[in-house]
Amino acid sequence: MSTINTDDLYVSSSVKGSYFNKIIDCETKKHSRWVEVALKCLPKVIFSELKSNLAIIEVNNIAACRLAAAQRSCEVIILTGYIFPPEGRTLLDEEAVQKKGVRSFLMIVLHEIAHAYKMHKSCKYDGITKKENNHQEDEANRLAVDWLNEYLGSIGYEKYSFSIEEIQAYIDNIVEFNKRRRGSQFSHWSGRAE
Ligand SMILES: [Zn+2]
Repeated sequence: MSTINTDDLYVSSSVKGSYFNKIIDCETKKHSRWVEVALKCLPKVIFSELKSNLAIIEVNNIAACRLAAAQRSCEVIILTGYIFPPEGRTLLDEEAVQKKGVRSFLMIVLHEIAHAYKMHKSCKYDGITKKENNHQEDEANRLAVDWLNEYLGSIGYEKYSFSIEEIQAYIDNIVEFNKRRRGSQFSHWSGRAE
């Protein structure tokens, strides 16, 4: 295996041509920076594997959009604006990492990346069963928790780790939040076939 040059991997998304620049298509610089933090939580070897095959797009204040050709050839992850940490949180300092809204944002992004990494299938397009889909969801949650906790440990914040139970509680909360927000049934971020 060739040596991974960390400096090249993690060049800011504001630098044209960087991996982060190619992957991240957010509506604000701050949101781009948050996605950078999520990508830095991935084990280096996994980010290195995914880096040329990933598009992470924020859809928040626009009415509609069409994906660029470069994005269509990638694993595409679409984020809604309301999952981002509130304004005022600085990236991943100790104050921010204590906030559930910060860790849950990272979990949501890592969960979707886990689906991409594992090349999970779709109920609608691949015909997998609800049981198979739920198995994929559990696998994505486990991977995301492992990645996030390992990263938090590596920067000295292991006490702010997530448990699977906390993740499930957060999922339940966000389902309720979406139901209230939309006034109707709303399929949650983890994509179970409900
Ligand atoms: Zn999912």
